[in-house]
Amino acid sequence: MHDPIPTVTLPSGTTVPALGLGTWQMGETKASVRDEIDSLRLGLDLGMTLVDTAEMYGDGEAERIVGRALEDRRDAAFLVSKVYPWNASRHGTIAACEASLQRLGTDRLDLYLLHWRGEHPLEDTVAGFEALRAAGKIGAWGVSNFDVADMEELLALPGGENCAVNQVLYNLSRRGIEHDLLPWCQAHAIPVMAYSPIEQGRLVHHPELIRVAKAYQATPAQVALAFLLERDGVIAIPKSANLARVRENRDAVDLDISDEDWSTLDAAFPPPARKTPLEML
Ligand code: NAP
Repeated sequence: MHDPIPTVTLPSGTTVPALGLGTWQMGETKASVRDEIDSLRLGLDLGMTLVDTAEMYGDGEAERIVGRALEDRRDAAFLVSKVYPWNASRHGTIAACEASLQRLGTDRLDLYLLHWRGEHPLEDTVAGFEALRAAGKIGAWGVSNFDVADMEELLALPGGENCAVNQVLYNLSRRGIEHDLLPWCQAHAIPVMAYSPIEQGRLVHHPELIRVAKAYQATPAQVALAFLLERDGVIAIPKSANLARVRENRDAVDLDISDEDWSTLDAAFPPPARKTPLEML
């Protein structure tokens, strides 16, 4: 028996699992397609029903993979995609969404994000998002790679208060957001989606993480995910195209790390002492 996956509530009241599935680097190699589809389907079976993709990933091919994984089970998933900043004019946002929907083989996204800030005025992107929402093509919209000043600017715009999430780089080795962005988002009830939650696989080689993980008969990746699952309003979206690692990531929910071991990990991965600009990968 495994613990249920905790949930996070979006501003709309919709709840989503705090552990979802990433798709960056999917759709890039023909030989991996079957593994990628199977991994996403296993993740859904295990309750990691939030699927994060983007028009960028695999140049649209990751969305096609997600579409194939969800073919007969669209309603079981909470589907997130992202618009490139250079497409994020009012009309460009709508056109990019239509193209994503086509590749995904669906008529709606649950959440649509601005991938990072670009040259288009934010109010134009928000207007595009709001038009898509009114048309029922997206359930909600949000942003990615926005620091506190960007969030404040966004929330001051007409419609800006409808921002549902901010997806940013956050993991044990990238704790900068704990200084201000994470508390800011928590105070505004805007969940943070933590991308690269295991630092694109690099965290599993960290000696202190390996040591703590061993004490729980767990893996370093599981401890890295448990670190994020501990936090209010944080959704982790690890990517794996490997069935065993999808199971391993799901089982991170069962870990119960002691305060003493969290202190050890704080010493190995110190929380920020001052404001640092938001990092991106
Ligand atoms: P990640 O999830 O931290 O790490 C993925 C890498 O770690 C893959 O190479 C994967 O390989 C490996 N891995 C997965 N589970 C593992 C485990 N249990 N043990 C050892 N290795 C494991 O990095 P990410 O893909 O950069 O981030 C996650 C998702 O966030 C992305 O897929 C994407 O959806 C999103 N993202 C968003 C942005 C943004 O700007 N908004 C930027 C980056 C990422 P296998 O597939 O072989 O298991």
